[in-house]
Amino acid sequence: MVLYTVTGKVGEEGYLDIAKSGDLTGKNIYVNMTNKCPCSCVFCLRQTKKQQENNTLWLKDGEPSIEEVLELFSKYDLNIINELVFCGFGEPLERLEDVCAVIDSLKNTYPNLKVRLNTIGLANLIYGRDVTPELEGRFDTVSISLNAPDENEFLELTRSRYGIQSYAAIKDFAVLAKRYVPHVVMTVVDKVMPEDKIKRCRQICKDLGVTLRVRPFEN
Ligand code: SF4
Repeated sequence: MVLYTVTGKVGEEGYLDIAKSGDLTGKNIYVNMTNKCPCSCVFCLRQTKKQQENNTLWLKDGEPSIEEVLELFSKYDLNIINELVFCGFGEPLERLEDVCAVIDSLKNTYPNLKVRLNTIGLANLIYGRDVTPELEGRFDTVSISLNAPDENEFLELTRSRYGIQSYAAIKDFAVLAKRYVPHVVMTVVDKVMPEDKIKRCRQICKDLGVTLRVRPFEN
């Protein structure tokens, strides 16, 4: 499933293919273009092969091409939606160039389209360079999963392939992204994280000059 809406319901019903989403007025459309991710979070829905293959967000036929994604979009009027969210079952910036190409093409038709990126914030390590300038004019909001109040806990939770440097890297990414993107937020999940740790995360975000968003827990 490449384009979908989120219903707020638990489990598979929580994700609805855009084709089955009815009237799109005011809705967020989620874009899922890759299965790849530099992490293997302990809480991720893709921990086992079975979990992956049974999930409708797993791209069973491989990654869609730019043309295929644009073809899917061509059936809908994006003037009526709230926001486009690059998110999905993998890390969107694993396909940085293709994601940018899709946004550029859509913005030709919809110059006022609001676009958000949900990311683990490790793109600069993936590419070995600062990619944040490429976010300019494309994303209105970048939402980075902070996950933890320190580097050890972050690594324990995400099992990032980049090791202990990952936590510093996502914080740098947030600061660098602020130069190019109007809204940069970091997120943690309510209830999963105790209040004292949320407080520490709040301070970290304050120091970085970004907003902390405490996402509601959905099991
Ligand atoms: S960063 Fe997201 S997609 Fe990647 S393993 Fe963690 S939860 Fe899953």
